[in-house]
Amino acid sequence: MKALTQPELLEWLHESRPSRLQLLYGWADRVRKEWVGDAVHLRGLIEISSHCARQCMYCGLRAANKQLTRYRMEREEILNCALEAEQLGYGTVVMQAGEDGEIKADWMAEIVHWIKRETRLAVTLSLGERSQDEFKMWRQAGADRYLLRFETSDKKLFRAIHPSRYEVGSDRIELLRTLKALGYEAGGGVMVGIPGQTFESLAGDILTFRTLNLDMIGIGPFIPHAGTPLGSGALKPLIENGEQAPNSEEMVYKMIALTRITCPEANIPSTTALATINRTEGRKLGLKAGANVVMPNLTPMKYRSLYEIYPAKACIEESASDCNQCLRGQIHSLGRFAGRGEGGRGTVEVPLLSRVEAGLQLVQLAQ
Ligand code: SAH
Repeated sequence: MKALTQPELLEWLHESRPSRLQLLYGWADRVRKEWVGDAVHLRGLIEISSHCARQCMYCGLRAANKQLTRYRMEREEILNCALEAEQLGYGTVVMQAGEDGEIKADWMAEIVHWIKRETRLAVTLSLGERSQDEFKMWRQAGADRYLLRFETSDKKLFRAIHPSRYEVGSDRIELLRTLKALGYEAGGGVMVGIPGQTFESLAGDILTFRTLNLDMIGIGPFIPHAGTPLGSGALKPLIENGEQAPNSEEMVYKMIALTRITCPEANIPSTTALATINRTEGRKLGLKAGANVVMPNLTPMKYRSLYEIYPAKACIEESASDCNQCLRGQIHSLGRFAGRGEGGRGTVEVPLLSRVEAGLQLVQLAQ
């Protein structure tokens, strides 16, 4: 596999000719097929708490946003969502939340342990920056993966948009190394088009994904939230060198494609943020540009609109089973199939069962 160099990445990030972009997406799609196959893995997302102690300048959950009604799911509610994930045929549940100190480590560990004991699901956590002891306890309880996007590899921009909680600055890149060392599959990722983010820094993000040898990489557009300093325009990080990268759909597809080519084995979702900026095609176009994962929402309906990291989030009105059907339809329309296993890094599933299913459908049609 030929690694793209920084100048090559930059050239592609500046590319806007449709014919060249089709070449790029086609290249990424071939790499995806060769390395991770045609399975699209479904990860059921449970947004377990919207409480957050942090003040991230982009995120609607930030503590200073007093407009938001906060919730924290009960243990039983979470377990029911996990059972639903299994019934719907998903291989993984992702439990995500703001950085909520009331999510106690032992409470969370018990939930992870229960899900691992009672289901065959892989468990992914995405609970922000927590202590090494907590990461260790959850890993021992059976958690398989941890998602912690580093948002941007530009250290100065990161500091500007991500105030630290303690005296020592937060270093998500270092935390990802810790997570890997603890035996987690580690997921990082970035937002595209953050005010103050340049093309150079996006190229740096892709090189960082590779250096860290990430197992999962989430990439979505920055979506302004009026209740945050970055979204309202109150904070405008300055660019010293280079040009502001747009938070456009095209920029996200380019980032997904270049990431797939650079990190061929990684699991890469076609994100809800992408579906938010193009409701009808966003998810599918992401899957055609190198992505191989989607994350259907399992959060109980009464909480959906309260987990408002950005406004007008796609699919918040769809029930879990509607979401499941819609996504499976999109996957089949691309000639791909929904994964049935855990879908960890480097697994290539063959579409055996879906062929049987297709055969059964033919038999039913013929009757
Ligand atoms: N507290 C957890 C989960 C945060 S929400 C954590 O810190 O990891 C998950 C992701 O949503 C974030 O990592 C960020 O990349 C994305 N996000 C937050 N605000 C956003 C916005 N305004 N636009 C687009 N994505 C956003």
